[in-house]
Amino acid sequence: MGEAKRRGSLEARTQDALARLRAALPDSVKCNNCGAELHEILPLDVQGMEGMRAAGVAVCTLCSHDTWAVDGTPDALRKFQQFLEEEHGGAAVSSGVARKPT
Ligand SMILES: [Zn+2]
Repeated sequence: MGEAKRRGSLEARTQDALARLRAALPDSVKCNNCGAELHEILPLDVQGMEGMRAAGVAVCTLCSHDTWAVDGTPDALRKFQQFLEEEHGGAAVSSGVARKPT
């Protein structure tokens, strides 16, 4: 009681933040391309994206296809889709890693 919660190093805090972002995502997603169950979802920092609650990408171990898991308002999801298309063109969901819009 009364003991201040110790804050870890910057690295530990980053891990914490990542864990929180990861916790907002589903346990697994199904590959959009081959239907494989993917448990390794890389969370994305969505702080700069208005209306987005969570976003992550899972790279399929079988076919290397990227499957996105996103959660947010319809408006935010539409913007995110646009962002992916602008960044990666037609290959939006099958290649590349999205970066936070600037
Ligand atoms: Zn796949």
